[in-house]
Amino acid sequence: MSTSATECIFCKIVSGEIPAPHLASNADAIAIADISPVAPTHYLILPRRHEANAIALHRSEPEAMTAIFALVDTLITQSGLSDYRLIFNTGEEAGQSVFHAHLHLIAGRPLSWPPG
Ligand code: AMP
Ligand code: ZN
Repeated sequence: MSTSATECIFCKIVSGEIPAPHLASNADAIAIADISPVAPTHYLILPRRHEANAIALHRSEPEAMTAIFALVDTLITQSGLSDYRLIFNTGEEAGQSVFHAHLHLIAGRPLSWPPG
């Protein structure tokens, strides 16, 4: 599945066309709260660049992955989190519904393993 950047909801959040408070940001990525949280803490870290998934982003702009993880560092430090899960859903079968790469940061309750 692919979505053009002009139709992409996360591109619209990055550009500000759809308002969403930035919890943290840097030159290549922003962090927002997930609109439908699955745990007490559920953040999304979005690269500013539109790529369909994490590996496409890694291939086209590897420094954006560093920028994403820098925001994870900021968020866990700000929130005092030591126990959390980081997830890049990739492909519909793996649960991806927005085809603009994004990292889920989930915490605040016991998280089962293996995932469903
Ligand atoms: P995924 O299923 O991995 O593609 O994750 C997409 C995530 O984006 C879901 O957890 C949605 O709840 C979240 N989401 C969709 N639209 C918005 C929005 N406008 N603001 C914040 N989060 C959103
Ligand atoms: Zn996009």
